[in-house]
Amino acid sequence: MARKVRRATVLSTTRISPHLQRIVVGSDEFADFPQDAKGAYVKVLLPHSGESKVELDLQAKRPALMRSYTIRNIHPVNGAITLDFVVNQHKGVASNWAQNAVVGDEVGIAGPGPKKLTDLTQTHYLMLADLTSVNAINGYLQVLPKDAIVDVIIHVADKADIIELEQIKANTQHSIKWLVTKKPETELLDQVIRFCAGYNTQPMVFMALEASLVKSVRRLITNRFAVDHEHIVASAYWKRGIDADGLKVEKQQQSRA
Ligand SMILES: Cc1cc2nc3c(=O)[nH]c(=O)nc-3n(C[C@H](O)[C@H](O)[C@H](O)COP(=O)(O)OP(=O)(O)OC[C@H]3O[C@@H](n4cnc5c(N)ncnc54)[C@H](O)[C@@H]3O)c2cc1C
Repeated sequence: MARKVRRATVLSTTRISPHLQRIVVGSDEFADFPQDAKGAYVKVLLPHSGESKVELDLQAKRPALMRSYTIRNIHPVNGAITLDFVVNQHKGVASNWAQNAVVGDEVGIAGPGPKKLTDLTQTHYLMLADLTSVNAINGYLQVLPKDAIVDVIIHVADKADIIELEQIKANTQHSIKWLVTKKPETELLDQVIRFCAGYNTQPMVFMALEASLVKSVRRLITNRFAVDHEHIVASAYWKRGIDADGLKVEKQQQSRA
C-alpha cells in the first residue's frame, strides 16, 4: 500500500453499537488525502502501551503497532476520516486503544491502500461481510452498477449491531440482509447456498470475513456452484486465535508457496 504516513489526532469517539466504536481522526496533513477513498483501508499506527507519542517512521527500530481499518467517511471540508473499530469482542492492541481513546489522542494514518474488488462490470454480485468489513460494503454500495443485482449478507452476533448503510435508494436491485447469528459457520453458509442456488449466472463474490469462514465459503462456492477463481475476491480480515501481525506473516507465506 502507499506508504505515506500522516500524523492525526482523535476528534471524536462514539459507541455507535455494542461492538462498534466510531472514531473520527483529523489532521492538517489530510489536505492531499484522496477524497475517493471511502471503503478503502488505512493502516492505523498506534502508540505502544503506556505511551502517548506514536512512531511514524515505518523503518524505526521500534515501529508503531499497526492495524488495518476501513474508511467509513471522509469529511468533504476538513478531510477528517471516520473509522469504526470492533470492540468488546476480543482483546487486541487496536480494540483496546479504541475503547480507551479520548479526544486529542495521537495516531498515525498510512495509506489508503487499494480496494480489493475492482471489477465493476458484472451483472450479479454476492457480498459477504461481518462487522469488520461493513464499511467496505458501504463503500462498494456507492460504486457498484445501479442495474446489477447486488446481494449483501452481513453477519452479526447481536441485533443491536445493525448499523445504517448509505444505500442509494435508486439502486432497487441492491439488497442487504443482516444475518443475526452466533453460528455463522453454518448459518452464513446456508444463506450462501440459498442465494447461489437462485442465480442463473455466475456471481462475482466478494467476501471479507474471519479466515476459517473465508476458507469454508470459498470451498462451498467453488465445489458446489462452480464459481471460477476469477469471480472470487476474498480476504481474511482477521483470524481467530492469531493477531493481525501473525495473520500477515501467514498471508505472506501463503502467497510465496
Ligand atoms: C483491509 C482490512 C480492513 C479492515 N477494516 C476493519 C474495520 O474497519 N474495522 C474493524 O474493526 N476491523 C477491521 N479489520 C480487521 C482488523 O484489522 C483486525 O480485526 C485486527 O486484528 C484488529 O486488531 P486488534 O489489535 O484489535 O487485535 P489483534 O491484536 O490483531 O488480535 C488479538 C486477538 O483478537 C482476535 N480478533 C481480532 N479481531 C477480532 C474480531 N473482529 N473479532 C473477534 N476476535 C478478533 C484475534 O484472533 C486475536 O486472537 C480490517 C482488516 C483488513 C485486512
